[in-house]
Amino acid sequence: MAKSTFLGSLPNIPLRTMSIIFVIVAAIAAVGVFVSDGLVNEGYRNIEQANDRFIQAQQAASDLEAGSDQLTYCVRSFVATGDVTYLNGYFEEAEVTRQRDNAVDSLEELLQGEESEAFDHLNKALSLSNELMHHEYRAMKLTVEADGIDVAVVPEVVMQANTTLEEEAMSADEKRALAQVLVFGKTYANYKTSIKSHAELSTQELVSASDEARLSADQNMNTLLTVQTILTILFLVVVLLLVVFVTLWVRIPLSHMVLRIQNNELVPPTGATELRFVAKTYNAMFEENKQTYARLSYGSTHDALTGLLNRKAYDVMLEDMDMSNTALLLIDVDKFKSINDTHGHDVGDLLLKRVAEVLRYSFRSTDLVFRLGGDEFVVIMSDVDSSVRDKVRDKIDQANVMLQKPKDDLPPTSLSVGVAFADRENPDGDIFKDADTALYRVKEAGRCGCVIY
Ligand code: GH3
Ligand code: MG
Repeated sequence: MAKSTFLGSLPNIPLRTMSIIFVIVAAIAAVGVFVSDGLVNEGYRNIEQANDRFIQAQQAASDLEAGSDQLTYCVRSFVATGDVTYLNGYFEEAEVTRQRDNAVDSLEELLQGEESEAFDHLNKALSLSNELMHHEYRAMKLTVEADGIDVAVVPEVVMQANTTLEEEAMSADEKRALAQVLVFGKTYANYKTSIKSHAELSTQELVSASDEARLSADQNMNTLLTVQTILTILFLVVVLLLVVFVTLWVRIPLSHMVLRIQNNELVPPTGATELRFVAKTYNAMFEENKQTYARLSYGSTHDALTGLLNRKAYDVMLEDMDMSNTALLLIDVDKFKSINDTHGHDVGDLLLKRVAEVLRYSFRSTDLVFRLGGDEFVVIMSDVDSSVRDKVRDKIDQANVMLQKPKDDLPPTSLSVGVAFADRENPDGDIFKDADTALYRVKEAGRCGCVIY
C-alpha cells in the first residue's frame, strides 16, 4: 500500500517525452565520446610526432658536429703525415658526404619555416665550420708546398687559399710548423669550441622546445581524458536513469495494474502518462460494465411468465451488440387472440410458456431468445451466415410441427417467423426492418412458416 502511494506521488511523465530525452542525451554523450576518442588519438599522434621530430633534430645537431670533427681529423692527419689519403678523405666529407650541410638542411626541413633558435645555432655552427675551412685550406696548401706534393692531385680550392708573400717565402719546415699551428693552435681550438657550443645550444633549444610541446600536448591530453571520463559517466547516468524510469514509471505500475485487473479491482492511475491513461480508461470501462451488470440483474431482464430474456434485456444488449455474423428471427404466434378468446387467458399463458420451451429447445444455447411482449418473440443467432438458411428453415418447421401436435391438452398453434441474416444478399433496410418485412410477408401468405432474407 505504501508502495503504491509512493508510486502515485511520482510526477506524471509521458513515455514519449522521456524516450526522446533519453535518446537525445545518449546521442550527445555518444557523439562526445566518439569525438573525444578521435581527439585523444590525435593527441597521441602529436606526442609521437613531437618525439620523432626531436630525435631527428638532435641527430642533425650531432651530425653537424661529427662532420666538423671528421674534417678536423682529416686535415690534422694530413698536416701531420703529408698523406694525400687524408686530403681526399677531407674533401670526400666536405663535398660528397656533406654531413654538416645535410644536418642543417634536414633541420630546416623539420622546422618547415618555423622561427627557431635551434636552427639559428646550427646555422651559426655551420658557418663557423665553413670559416674554419679557409684556415684548413691554408694549412693544407702550406703542407702541400712543404712536402712537395704533386699539385695535380690537390683540389684547386686548396691551392687558391690565401697565403701571404711572407708565408710563400718560408722554408719547408717553417711552412710545416705554420700549418701545424693553423690546425692545432689556439685559434683553431677556439673555432672548434664555438662550433661545438653552438651545436650544443641548438640541442638545448630543441630539448626545451620539445619539452614545451610535450607539456602542452600532455595538458591537452589530460583535459581530453577528463572530458572523456565525464562523458562516460554521463552515459552511465543515462543508462541508470533509464533503468530507474522504466522500473518506477513502467514495470512496477504495469505489474500492479495486471494484479488489480486479475483481481477484478479498479486500477490506481500511476506511472507514465500513457499508463495512467490506460488505467483511467480501464476504470471507466470497469465502472460502466458494473453498472450494466447491475441493470441487467435477473429479475429486471427476464420475462416472469416464460423465463426468457425480456424486452429490456433486448434493448440493452442490442445497444452494444455487434450484429455482424448474426441472424435475427422475429416470431409471432398465429391467431393467438382467438386462442385466448376460445380457451381463456390462462390457457393462452400456458401456450406462451410452451412456445418459449419449444424455441429454447430448437436453438443453440449460445443463441439469445427473447419474449418482447404479448405473443411476440425474437431469436438472435450468433456466429452464423446465410449458408445455414436451410437449417434455420428446418428448425422453424420442426417447431411448428411440435406446436401443432401439442401435449398436455393444449390447443394446437403455429408460428410465423421473419428471418434476416446479417450477410443477406439484397437488403431492403437494416436487419430489424428486413426481419419485420419478412414476418409481415409470412402473415400475408397465410401464416405458419417463415420467409428468410
Ligand atoms: P396474428 O396471427 O395476426 O398474429 O393474429 P393474433 O390473433 O395473434 O394477433 P396479435 O398477435 O396482434 O394478438 C396478440 C394477442 O396476445 C393480443 C393479446 O390479447 C394477447 N396477449 C398479450 N399478452 C398476453 C399475455 O400475457 N397472456 C395472454 N394469454 N395473452 C396475451
Ligand atoms: Mg399473433
